[in-house]
Amino acid sequence: MKPIRALTLDLDDTLWPIAPAILRAEQALHAWLQLEAPLTASRFDIDALRAKRDEVSRTHAHIAHDFTAVRRESLRLALMEAGDDDSLADAAFEVFFAARHELEFYPEVEQALQRIACRYPLLALTNGNADIARTSIGSLFRGTISARDFGIGKPDPRIFLEACRRLDCAPAEVLHVGDDLELDVRGAQSAGLQTFWLRRGDCGADDMPEEGVATVACLLTLADRLGC
Ligand SMILES: [Mg+2]
Repeated sequence: MKPIRALTLDLDDTLWPIAPAILRAEQALHAWLQLEAPLTASRFDIDALRAKRDEVSRTHAHIAHDFTAVRRESLRLALMEAGDDDSLADAAFEVFFAARHELEFYPEVEQALQRIACRYPLLALTNGNADIARTSIGSLFRGTISARDFGIGKPDPRIFLEACRRLDCAPAEVLHVGDDLELDVRGAQSAGLQTFWLRRGDCGADDMPEEGVATVACLLTLADRLGC
């Protein structure tokens, strides 16, 4: 690999598993609805709220890239359909969003990122709506670029180029690491960044290029590779 000056990192399923994080947030939201909007809570269980969110994502194409807007609008519709006050949607979303940031990182993440952040600036790059600053490792990062804020998501090269601009680096000087071959690896390559494909749980991933790209099985290996 060529010398780098900074890293961009995917968040969901790269630094923490997303499914349990979302489920915990949905459970916190539903408990709140039982107290504050009981008609909605009894009409919509967690699966029904998910179905409502998916429906909004399909029918509101202009906000489909913005998971916050989709979630908030789906809550507003659920409250309205159940006969509760739909102005509770913002407060309901905040309950979900706060719980979504109570994360359980993969075991090596904090130690590995502390090592890497000593040497390189880190920027989070996500198509989700997590804000790294709201997590316990936020101080290790320069910030987050999300598809929501930027208006364009991965794998579009423009979001990677925006990250390079904010890091004041040429694309070839930035290493992007993420779990998704298309969104993270191919997207970053199309913008000229260097990449590592994070293949968690694949013990052979540390030395086995797959699909023509460099792979690692965990972020400690990445820290080793970077000499951090
Ligand atoms: Mg991911």
